[in-house]
Amino acid sequence: MNSAQSWIVVADDTAASGLVDLARSVGDEVVAVVAGRREVASSLASAVDRVLWLGEPDQAPVEAYGPAVAAVVAQATPRTVIGATSPGGRALLGAVAAALRVPVLAGVSALEADGDQVVVTRSVLGGIAEHRTAVQGGTTVVAVDPGGAVAGDGDLAPLEELAVTPLAATVTEVRPAAVAGADLGGARTVVGVGRGLKAREDVALVSDLAAALGGELACSRPLAEGVDWLPKERYIGISGQHIAPDLYLALGISGQLQHMVGVRGAKVIVAVNSDKNAPVFSQCDFGVVGDMYEVVPALTAALGTGS
Ligand SMILES: Cc1cc2nc3c(=O)[nH]c(=O)nc-3n(C[C@H](O)[C@H](O)[C@H](O)COP(=O)(O)OP(=O)(O)OC[C@H]3O[C@@H](n4cnc5c(N)ncnc54)[C@H](O)[C@@H]3O)c2cc1C
Repeated sequence: MNSAQSWIVVADDTAASGLVDLARSVGDEVVAVVAGRREVASSLASAVDRVLWLGEPDQAPVEAYGPAVAAVVAQATPRTVIGATSPGGRALLGAVAAALRVPVLAGVSALEADGDQVVVTRSVLGGIAEHRTAVQGGTTVVAVDPGGAVAGDGDLAPLEELAVTPLAATVTEVRPAAVAGADLGGARTVVGVGRGLKAREDVALVSDLAAALGGELACSRPLAEGVDWLPKERYIGISGQHIAPDLYLALGISGQLQHMVGVRGAKVIVAVNSDKNAPVFSQCDFGVVGDMYEVVPALTAALGTGS
């Protein structure tokens, strides 16, 4: 075991600052192995101590490099191996973990070296709790959010090109998927509606308000997976989207934990509910006890754009 080294495995993606930062927190020497284009490898050269580059991928998908990356890492047996939670990162990290015969710990927010063990802090239960796991006696393999582009200020590490043969797989076509667009993650205002809504045709009531506010429409899970009045990618919560808008309006939503976990990042939460004892009122910044069928059209009219 080389306990001074921390390795990162990078697919064809320049967003790797999360990996580099975590690797630095536990390793004196950070080594990157890159299964991607030269520009991806070069982008890491000022932030890590060594860059091992597997050459231009041409038409090979990143999965085809899994065994080669795993063999390089397994030979070095570093204390930690860190990969991204992106699809490419997971493909590489899974291959490495299988070669080392160790598990992958996902959702990692921090690492600490403590003697011969590594203590891993992970976010669990949709972000409402943290686990600390002590790993002993082997390489610790973890997956983290990739973060952004790497901003290094060190010397440029030379690219060490490794000659490897990827598995015989070729990307033959790349087609954009037809996705019903819902940019909830980037929206500054989100209007969420729940089972306080009585009928599918009443969705217009809340979509009018969302439009008047220049926001996105969202919902609780029962409206997307129960009655199917709104698409699944619009429901918020522990098993749906996690959002961080400036303003979240919860209309006819009771405020169950599984829903509210998804709006923990919202700056201001406003709730409208006819039940003054609804749990949402203890979790919002402003609350209106009232019938959403009266409050919502009044709000939309006050904003001057109702239908
Ligand atoms: C494993 C698991 C995962 C889950 N994941 C999610 C998840 O990711 N997201 C999610 O949302 N849920 C999730 N749920 C479901 C969750 O537990 C709740 O059942 C759900 O969030 C409730 O949705 P709601 O608030 O719309 O409905 P309800 O709890 O039925 O609340 C409806 C509210 O509307 C109010 N109301 C009724 N009429 C009016 C009116 N005219 N005007 C104003 N208010 C009115 C009522 O007072 C009530 O408070 C999950 C559950 C489980 C078990």
